[in-house]
Amino acid sequence: MNPSVFEFLELGEATHGSPQESKILDTISHGFPEHTVVNITTKYWEVNSSAVYVNGERLEGVVMPYTKGCVKGKIGREIGLFQMPSHPFLLKSLPLSQYEGVLIYEEGKLRKIVLPQGSPPSFFIPRKVEGIAEICSENELVTVSSRNVEVKVRDGDSYILFLAHVDHWLTGFHDNLFSVGLLMDLKKDLEKLNLKHGVKIVFLSSEEGPRCCTGSMQYPTKDVFSVISIDATYPSRVVYSSTPDLWSLSSHFNLKRVEMPTPFSDHFPFVAKGIPGLVLYNDDMIGVYHSNTDLPIPSDDGYYKELKSSLIKFTLELDSKTKEELDEKFFEVARQRGYRGDVRDGALVPDPETLLTKFRVESS
Ligand SMILES: [Zn+2]
Repeated sequence: MNPSVFEFLELGEATHGSPQESKILDTISHGFPEHTVVNITTKYWEVNSSAVYVNGERLEGVVMPYTKGCVKGKIGREIGLFQMPSHPFLLKSLPLSQYEGVLIYEEGKLRKIVLPQGSPPSFFIPRKVEGIAEICSENELVTVSSRNVEVKVRDGDSYILFLAHVDHWLTGFHDNLFSVGLLMDLKKDLEKLNLKHGVKIVFLSSEEGPRCCTGSMQYPTKDVFSVISIDATYPSRVVYSSTPDLWSLSSHFNLKRVEMPTPFSDHFPFVAKGIPGLVLYNDDMIGVYHSNTDLPIPSDDGYYKELKSSLIKFTLELDSKTKEELDEKFFEVARQRGYRGDVRDGALVPDPETLLTKFRVESS
């Protein structure tokens, strides 16, 4: 694995627009002197103070993004106490706003997961508690400049883009330093391939907030043939989440499943504009997702090598396709699913039911 990954891990949490995020981007820039910097605007979440007390005793705990304010009350009455649900998406269905403040707990773990807008001051704590709680955080979202760092592997008329976001909550090893290291190493392998398309590797700022994909949303989509985002992979399989025109290329991977593109990673701003796109992730990492326990594990090395070799085979096959071939496959599935339009741009929209995307179907 690329040794820079462990250097990045040492920096600690690197949230969107933070000085740590900037340091990671600096190291990548130094490693690739030929890089290009594309400035973007984002927001840094500046936490000036945060503390949680239970029965007068200070507890280890982290304030949940982007909640703020101070409240004191009885747990179960003014302060809601919830166990971390089995899937982070389920946090949305908890009745958080019925309380003046919220504590979410999980034994031995801290997590930072974005809660629905308007949620009361909320903290994540590493054990169940009872009694009187006092929680307080002063923080604000400050507009700052950051940048995406782009490394061109080869020239072309249109480009295959490999994407990885560098910002992360808490330890963030698999989400997403592992992917950053993978793409830093993949460049050498990609250079050896004889491809018809151009190739770029893009290290993105601000995927995690203040809303999804702040960095990739500002990427110009002109000349983009296809995008592959590597985001939250975890040994030893992948969820292959892509536009239908890329489904057949999933045979190169050790698959958990193939699905429609999720709207929650950096491929999505491209997919929404009609570009063939894929994100590789793995929901086997739910246990460590956005926590202080997302750290290296022994099977990372083998997985890393396997994923790299799968990506090379995938790239060779993707490169052999033409835009027309991909469009044909895309519209074949689009028609089956009731899409009547004749452009790809805007054909796929988020689906609140599956939390993936679906074809836009006009109701008659
Ligand atoms: Zn991620």
